[in-house]
Amino acid sequence: MKTSVIGYPRVGSLRELKFASEKYFRGEISAADLQETAKSLRAAHIAAQRKNGVDFIPCNDFSFYDTVLDAAVLLGAVPVRYKALGLSPLDTYFAMARGYQGKNGDVKALAMKKWFNTNYHYMVPELDDDTAIALHAEKPLAELAEAKAAGVQTKPVVCGAFTFLKLARCTGEKTAADFARQTAAAYGELLGKLAAAGAEWVQFDEPALVRDLTAEDKKLFTSLYEEILAQKGSAKVLVQTYFGDVRDCYKELCALPLDGIGLDFLEGRESFALVEKYGFPADKVLFAGLVNGKNIWKNNYATTVAAVQKLQKTGAEVVLSTSCSLLHVPYTLRNETKLSAEYTERFAFAEEKLGELCELKEILAAAAPEKCAAYQKNAALFARERGGKNAAVQAKVAAIKESDYTRLPAFEVREAIQKERFALPLLPTTTIGSFPQTADVKANRAAFKKGEITKAEYDTFNRKKIAECVALQEKIGLDVLVHGEYERNDMVEYFGECLSGFLFTEKAWVQSYGTRCVKPPIVWGDVSREKPMTVEWSVYAQSLTEKPMKGMLTGPVTILNWSFPREDITLRECALQIALAIREEVLDLEANGLKIIQIDEAALREKLPLRKSDWESDYLSWAIPAFRLVHSGVKAETQIHTHMCYSEFTDIIPAIDSMDADVITFEASRSDLLILDALKANNFRTEVGPGVYDIHSPRVPSVEEIKGALRKMLEKIPAKKLWVNPDCGLKTRGVEETIPSLEHLVEAAKQLRNENL
Ligand code: GLN
Ligand code: ZN
Repeated sequence: MKTSVIGYPRVGSLRELKFASEKYFRGEISAADLQETAKSLRAAHIAAQRKNGVDFIPCNDFSFYDTVLDAAVLLGAVPVRYKALGLSPLDTYFAMARGYQGKNGDVKALAMKKWFNTNYHYMVPELDDDTAIALHAEKPLAELAEAKAAGVQTKPVVCGAFTFLKLARCTGEKTAADFARQTAAAYGELLGKLAAAGAEWVQFDEPALVRDLTAEDKKLFTSLYEEILAQKGSAKVLVQTYFGDVRDCYKELCALPLDGIGLDFLEGRESFALVEKYGFPADKVLFAGLVNGKNIWKNNYATTVAAVQKLQKTGAEVVLSTSCSLLHVPYTLRNETKLSAEYTERFAFAEEKLGELCELKEILAAAAPEKCAAYQKNAALFARERGGKNAAVQAKVAAIKESDYTRLPAFEVREAIQKERFALPLLPTTTIGSFPQTADVKANRAAFKKGEITKAEYDTFNRKKIAECVALQEKIGLDVLVHGEYERNDMVEYFGECLSGFLFTEKAWVQSYGTRCVKPPIVWGDVSREKPMTVEWSVYAQSLTEKPMKGMLTGPVTILNWSFPREDITLRECALQIALAIREEVLDLEANGLKIIQIDEAALREKLPLRKSDWESDYLSWAIPAFRLVHSGVKAETQIHTHMCYSEFTDIIPAIDSMDADVITFEASRSDLLILDALKANNFRTEVGPGVYDIHSPRVPSVEEIKGALRKMLEKIPAKKLWVNPDCGLKTRGVEETIPSLEHLVEAAKQLRNENL
């Protein structure tokens, strides 16, 4: 049994690449220094895999920023505006990734998007009518040679032609299909060059194959690969898929003259059925993704061994593989010094997953796998009762009734009651929650974390900030106020730390984009709320003003989506547990006088399944009820707000409306407001606050500009349903731009009210 790794994390176990890159950006180290760091990281990654006997070790999975961006450079798809800067190849690359502002010019970065259903982001390649695809194979060739020089045979990994064209944005008249010929030629040429340089296998990553494919997509895919493979030299070609199954193109994949097909048997729900139903071609190797590249739990060897045996029964030649790149999990448990063995014995980060591949390889080679010591040790672990269970929480979830998901009275009745209660002006103004996290706020938190100040001192400072924030909002003239969120560094971590059932790591970083990494909490056990989490802050803030203060919470779906979830219970169950905990907080806020409560679901859309046919059954059917459960217990006069960080929800508008919030705010200023047509067409009943200015930029919008945005909104949304607010929270902004921006926002609303009334 051979083993394969699809890709390895690259930022370094202590984020060495991040720090070196940022130093390079600041001009503190040279390009050669940065290359040196990169080289030593690659060597360490290859060494770790070699030590664990991985047979198919990837190369070219390294990237200074993102591998889709690398593919754009590989194919010569560098837009003219970046070439025109006249920078070095490395700096041109970084200009595409991060934008450039300096003596050579001023250009924005390429667009960035989420990589399928992960929290990793890729740079969107741009193809214009003049783009001439041509191969620039220096990077994969160099990385192949570098490993070879160290005595290691590696498998170059490249973003596949189909996925590349599906993700690219065509900015002119031409469509992706118009670039197919040139693209296939470049990939064919690449195969020749890699073979000549000694590559035995080449891996093309094609995750785009696990989405719903149209007839046109299938045609594009087969025609690309027929042409690429026609130029195939001596190197063997593996088409690697992940994040789902390839039900729409399994037969086409099998019919191509490929040497290997990589399938995901964890997220790919139908992968087994496909192999069993249609068989697996005898002339190909099946790379079976069975070691989870996305989650941090140990592999269950009994399950994996049974799966491999089942696949082998079909006659397929099987290579044991990770389910996707290990990029999505942290590096190593060795960096975690504070978590006890009770927890860590259940975890496997990237390095530990290599160990699992190694053990499984041995186990699978044995005549009687279940007799192997490693197998038995693993079986004993899974047989052992695991901590973190809370019978009371489980009983509460079991006791949820259908009626608990429904808030009464109906929306329209509540809307009338609330209009009367709050008596807000037309076009009420508000913000999304956080105010600038200035240096003093961060310093206060850091001092408290280091034990330099007491909890009382920490709290006193935050109360002072709240008081200033409330005074500022009153002065500016906002209608519905917020406390500013000074007590949180992060909208998920804060609640994770307050709730029981979550674990936190010290160094378990995962790359989110470029040099940015996140440290997701781990849902370890049943989730419950031991004590109020935000009540004190919100009550204090409300005590300072006559205006309504919004209680501010993060919703269950977002908390779950930004954590590593459990695998021993369903996502639905876990979401309901978190929902019950947040529900208690909502009821506490209400009981303590908060009349408006905002429950953020910033990440609700993020985990929407890749296939439309799974949206309802796999996700919305529990995500929306989980949200409804959070607020269904409040009185009619309590107003529930929610917030989302994107406007691309045209396709799930009915689902969003059925969250049954009273008001929803969302990001809109950077999109073309197309969402408004969709809201109108769907008779959206929830009151809406599409963001009137972009908070990702320090620009101050003028009154006229905001009025312009609002006028457009008023064409589609009845005035009595429209709120006025920025795009998102203000925590990353400076005070300098925040004050005038909000003043302009309030002024714009006032002027329009006079026009409209
Ligand atoms: N209430 C949060 C804030 O204002 C929302 C953040 C978000 O949507 N990402 O920061
Ligand atoms: Zn947001």
